[in-house]
Order: sequence, then C-alpha cells, then structure tokens
Amino acid sequence: MLLTCLEGYELKPVWRLLDTGPRTAAENMALDEVLLECRAMGVSPNTFRLLRFKPPAVLVGYHQDVTQEVRLDYVEEKGIHVNRRITGGGAIYFDEESVGWEIVASKSSLPPYGSVESLFRVMCTGAVKALEKLGVKASFRPKNDIEVKGRKISGTGGTERSGAILFQGTLLVDFDVETMIKALRVPVVKLKDKEIRSVRERVTCLSWELGYKPTYEEVKRCLVSGFEETMSVELREAGLLEEEERMLREKLPYFQSDDWVFLDRKSSEEPAVLYSIAKKPGGLIRVSLTVDKEAKIIKSLLITGDFFAFPPRVIYDLEAFLKFSPCNEEEIRGKVRKFFEARGECILGVSPDDIANLIIEAAGKLSYERYGLKGDELNYIFPVTEKAWMVPLGECDYLLLPYCAKHIECSYRRVEGCEKCGVCSIGDAYRMAEEAGLTPITIQNFEHLMEVLSLMKERKMRGFVGCCCEAFYQKHRDELEAMGVPGIIITIDDKTCYELGKSEEAYRGDFEAQTRIKLGTLSKIIGSICKFRSGGRNPVEAL
Ligand code: SF4
Ligand code: SF4
Repeated sequence: MLLTCLEGYELKPVWRLLDTGPRTAAENMALDEVLLECRAMGVSPNTFRLLRFKPPAVLVGYHQDVTQEVRLDYVEEKGIHVNRRITGGGAIYFDEESVGWEIVASKSSLPPYGSVESLFRVMCTGAVKALEKLGVKASFRPKNDIEVKGRKISGTGGTERSGAILFQGTLLVDFDVETMIKALRVPVVKLKDKEIRSVRERVTCLSWELGYKPTYEEVKRCLVSGFEETMSVELREAGLLEEEERMLREKLPYFQSDDWVFLDRKSSEEPAVLYSIAKKPGGLIRVSLTVDKEAKIIKSLLITGDFFAFPPRVIYDLEAFLKFSPCNEEEIRGKVRKFFEARGECILGVSPDDIANLIIEAAGKLSYERYGLKGDELNYIFPVTEKAWMVPLGECDYLLLPYCAKHIECSYRRVEGCEKCGVCSIGDAYRMAEEAGLTPITIQNFEHLMEVLSLMKERKMRGFVGCCCEAFYQKHRDELEAMGVPGIIITIDDKTCYELGKSEEAYRGDFEAQTRIKLGTLSKIIGSICKFRSGGRNPVEAL
C-alpha cells in the first residue's frame, strides 16, 4: 500500500535548514569557517543556513583592507561591529533587518553549472524565486548581484575548500542608506543629499519594493521554498552538531581578534577614492572610483550626475561592465566606446568619450602621488587641461589665489596684494610662492581671472597653480581650459559663496565671508615645483 502511495513521487535529497538566529559578526564569520570545514571533512550535511546580525555589522571581503573600506571612527561610535568574511568581494553593511542566506554543500551535490558565472546564476536563482514569492520581480545581474528594475537588492559571493563550497548572499529587508554610506567608504566623496539619493537609485530593499516590511518568518519561508525548488532538495530544520559547536568555541577567539579582522592588509595610506567632475551639455557628471594599484584595475566605479540616460539602467550596467577593467587610457576608452556601440543607448548631451575622459581623469589623479599627495588629498586637485598628469608643474610661474581667503577686515580684501601679516592663509601662501620663485596674485573677480590668464598666454607661460572652490572650477572649467594655459587647481576650505547663496556677490568680488587656502596641500605642490626646478624630473607620462 505504501509503495503504491509513493508511485510517481520523486524522493528529493534532504538538506539541513540551519537558522542560526541573530549573532555577532565574529560568531557568524567563525560559523562560516566551521561549516565549510566540517562539510569538507564530511562531518556536516549539506546545509542551507539563514543568518542575522546583532549588533549591526560591516563585513569586508577576505582580500580587503579594513582601513580602506570602513570608517572606523564612525562604526566605533555607533557600536557597529567590523569583521572579515572568508569569501572575497566588497564590503557590506549588515543591519539587524537584513537576512543572510548560505549554501554549504559538497560540489558534487550541486546542479551542474559549468563556469563560475553560471554557478553564481544558479545560486542566485533561489533568491530570485524567493523574492518572487514575496511579490518582488527580481533578476540575476552578472557578475554577482540580484536586482529589481536595475537596483541591487542582494549581493552574493562564495569560496570553496576540498570539494565543498560555501555560497552566500544578503537580502535587504529594510535599509538605512545614510548609516551604510557613513559606515563604508563607498566611492562617494562627499555626503551630500544628492549622493545619498544617488545610492538610493542603485540599491533597493524589500520594504521599499513592497511598501511594508515583511516579517522575518515570511522572508524565511520564501527563501526556504525558493531554494528548495532551485536545488531540488527538501530542507529540514535542525541545529548545529556537537562537533560544529566545539569547533565554533575553538575558532571564535581568532575571529574576534584584530589579527583576523585586519589580517595583514592594514594600510598606512588613506584610501584613494578618486573623483572627477565636468559639466557637459547634458548635465553635470561626476565619476568616483577606486583603483587597485598593484593589479592596476578599477576596483569600483560610480557615475552620478543630473543627466538623462536612456534607459536609466545603462549607467549601472556600464559601471558593472567597467569593474575590474585594466586601468589605462586605451582600455578605458575602448571599453566605454564598445559598450555604447553594442548597446546603442545614450546619455543625452554626453558622449561616450566624455564619460571615458572623466574616468581617465579620476584614475589619473593617482599621478599626483608623485607630488607627495595621498588619499583624499588627491581629490583636492583639479586639472585645467585635458590630462591631469600633463601639467608641467616645474614650469608653473604663477600662484593664483582667491580674494575670498583674505581676512574680511584686511585692507587688501578688495585690492590685489598682501603684506603677509600672518592673520590669514593668504599671507602664508604668498610667502611659500615667493620662496619658490612663483609670482602670487590674488584674483579679485572673474574678469580679473580672465585678464590674468590672457596675460599668461601672451607671455607664453606654460602652467600655473591656482586655488579656488570646487564649485567655481565646475562652473568655469570650460572657460578656464579655453584660455589654453594648463594649470593645477587646489580646492579651498570652508563654506563657499555658492553654499552661502552669495555667488552673484562673489562674481563681482563682494563676497563677505572668509575661506581658507589648503596650505598643507599647497606646500607639497610648491615643494615639488622647487624639486623639479632644481633638476628633479617633471614627468609627463601616461597613466
Ligand atoms: S595675510 Fe595678507 S591678506 Fe591676510 S590679513 Fe594679512 S595682509 Fe591681509
Ligand atoms: S567662487 Fe566664491 S568661494 Fe569660490 S573661490 Fe570664488 S569667491 Fe571664493
């Protein structure tokens, strides 16, 4: 009778469903190691694990440098734990709402997958099905993401050991964009509303898609059923084995230690998140990227701006397409052109070369390291020429300074000159310039700047160093470049006339607030000029 009942019924392999509940980042990461090791040794069964984090955590990828990826002061202040995954990939922020899922199985028990990309596709299908069951239409986005209408909802990664594989993914249930941006050093240089909106445009979560926050039980039910279907297995809930518990106790102290969290990847350098910006007929475009200097590849890329892209997701696809590309001019330009030729899509008023130039320019900021600049400092510099590294620094004869950095009460505020009385940063900048043989000039208004540049052109000057706010540079970059005198602009500190809504007054030279020259950066640039003049090399070379 029993046999009759089972006729035509396909028995599915049984895997363990392991829900390890909310745990610390160190416990969760140690458990990954324990489960993979135990599966490789044949101690553990094939397992589908669900994991959550309490307190919230930032998890860097195995190969990452914590100091480069995480704002350690911020996470410490907020009680966010930091740990390292045993899998590669980028840093992620895991709040208490997010749900992690993992497959720990012998490779032979997985559906046939061929290439690594197909493995990612197969594994992601379970999560895609789970999202569908929750009412969200999602799809796999190569190389390793799951997206909903172009916005990432889940990232994945994996590793293997002796015939066993660990594949893991996240599922964002609710999402605090601001905390994520502040905790991670995402390639967004300034935390302005615009950039936060921009991250919102790239990422989504269940509660935004559904209009309500599903319960954990609901998410769990759908994940279980999605993966059961995809893997053709039955998941039966069970706890940790005794041996797994023992190994967890043994390994936990190491996973809690700085030796593991920082590994040997602690960098003494500031993270080099490089950016470039330009106004084109189609709008403002900002490129932020990070470069793996050893491998010479683009590690991450973000293209933002107020342009119109058709379809909007073309930007996200371009970012994914260029990730891990060799970081040289020819490759970047070639790949950007190829991408747009193949897709036939466009960004209104912005050419593929405009985008390529900005990426090349951002990456080219690494060339400023030869002037002794590091980390964020590389972004204080803007080129007034096509290529950042083409400015003949040793041949700069003028230092142009903005009147807005002069003391408000100074009698020189509205006229050119400075007595170097020491009250404001302009005096120090004058002193540095004169000692290096440069002529300092304070620029009193926009017309005055144009006059000075015309004069420099007439006198066949080959370069200048200037200081002004980034907003001024953005607005007038084309006019500055059109003057044909290459230069390096160093941004200034403090609230600018744009931020204070006083740009009209500033244009006329009537801005009544005080900014400051970045003297540290200026001194490095002037120091390099002196070095080049006394026989040092002034390299003009490609990336
Ligand atoms: S340092 Fe120069 S600009 Fe500043 S207050 Fe003194 S004289 Fe004026
Ligand atoms: S635009 Fe305004 S803040 Fe910027 S350099 Fe000119 S006066 Fe100063």
